[in-house]
Amino acid sequence: MKIATLSVGDELLCGQITDTNAGTIAEVLLSHGLRVQRHMAVGDSEPDIIEAILGLARNSDAIIVTGGLGPTADDLTARAAARATGRRLVLNDHAKAHVREMSGRLPSLVVCPLNDKQAMIPAKTVLIPNPTGTACGFHLMNNGCFMFFLPGVPSEMSRMLHDSVIPFLAERTTGKRAIRMERLNVFGPGEAEVDEMLGGIARPDQGLYLGICVTFPWMRITLRAEADGDDKASALLDPAVSLVRERLQEYVFSNGDRTIDEIIAELFIRKGMTLSLAESCTGGMIAQRITSISGSSRYFLEGAVTYSNAAKSRQLEVGPALLAEKGAVSREVASAMAKGVRRAAGSHLGLAVTGIAGPDGGTDDKPVGTVFISLAAPDGCWTKRFRFSGSRDEIRIITTWTALDWLRRYLLKKE
Ligand code: ATP
Ligand code: MG
Repeated sequence: MKIATLSVGDELLCGQITDTNAGTIAEVLLSHGLRVQRHMAVGDSEPDIIEAILGLARNSDAIIVTGGLGPTADDLTARAAARATGRRLVLNDHAKAHVREMSGRLPSLVVCPLNDKQAMIPAKTVLIPNPTGTACGFHLMNNGCFMFFLPGVPSEMSRMLHDSVIPFLAERTTGKRAIRMERLNVFGPGEAEVDEMLGGIARPDQGLYLGICVTFPWMRITLRAEADGDDKASALLDPAVSLVRERLQEYVFSNGDRTIDEIIAELFIRKGMTLSLAESCTGGMIAQRITSISGSSRYFLEGAVTYSNAAKSRQLEVGPALLAEKGAVSREVASAMAKGVRRAAGSHLGLAVTGIAGPDGGTDDKPVGTVFISLAAPDGCWTKRFRFSGSRDEIRIITTWTALDWLRRYLLKKE
């Protein structure tokens, strides 16, 4: 089945928002053995939308259009769909009832006459329910092409794609290839290093594909197997996944959509250990990540942002003489911070970071990007010097990730 997608909206062409809908649709379809062959984006112009719909439909069995179904004047997709397919635009009673009902349910919306515009749908179409928003989607058949029209809001679009579009297309597709995918999430080595470590695993000629996607500061490895039947696809995929895991070892922190924060949470709960944090250059970013997980109160006791020397002395009992002699960014102070916060909180683990995030503040022997991370535990205290590069934000982010990864590795070793 030949499928095309069309994204509508001036914001997309002005660079104000990124077209994530196109990527989501392509990815979801692919996971169901369907491939998007063409994609296009147009602005909020009725003639442009009409031309794009007709142009894409000419060479496709199905097109999926997103955006421009809302109540505002710049939402022109329903009218363009009607014109493009020679239909009248009519007030759809079901859509009207839906808009009324949703408007009542969503607290921020007031029912105003403008919203009836959202119930103006081309005649002879089938409505696609939108359980989370006011704009109904619809689909129709025109000259042998299935046309789907969905709202632009990504969460609404995704839900309707899964609930309505995918089942509809899957039912009408014959002889499709089985596709199986697995994602492994990796932190530590650089892209080129990973690429080298994974050399020879992909075999595109046999339908086994490998992709590396860098999402600073971690990366995602996607393995995809395409074959005639699920069993064959699995036989291709499973050994390749094992091979990647074998080569990358502990650099792989999770698979699928699981974040490093979730993995750490699971490990802490499984080990029954507790944590306290003393942060300087990250200003609470590590604590933010830890507490982003519901249930983190079971293992996270406290975090201190000890930015000044005085705070390090008062809260963590880092000696003023040590601070004066070694400097706040030093191996000795980092480990004193980790031990200090562990003692003060009475936690199993105490983790500390201190560094120079820049752009100012670097010296010859401690340039910008110098960071010390220290982990105090019942069985010892480890401190390491890092030299990160990048902007202030990047240095703070990579410091946060490295600290989280230290926790993960420590807890894994305790397994
Ligand atoms: P609404 O009822 O919200 O007006 P709509 O169908 O008219 O829905 P748009 O007005 O085109 O949709 O888009 C609504 C919002 O959804 C946009 O402001 C944008 O934030 C997001 N959006 C739209 N299209 C896309 C896209 N292709 N990728 C990512 N986000 C999008
Ligand atoms: Mg809109």
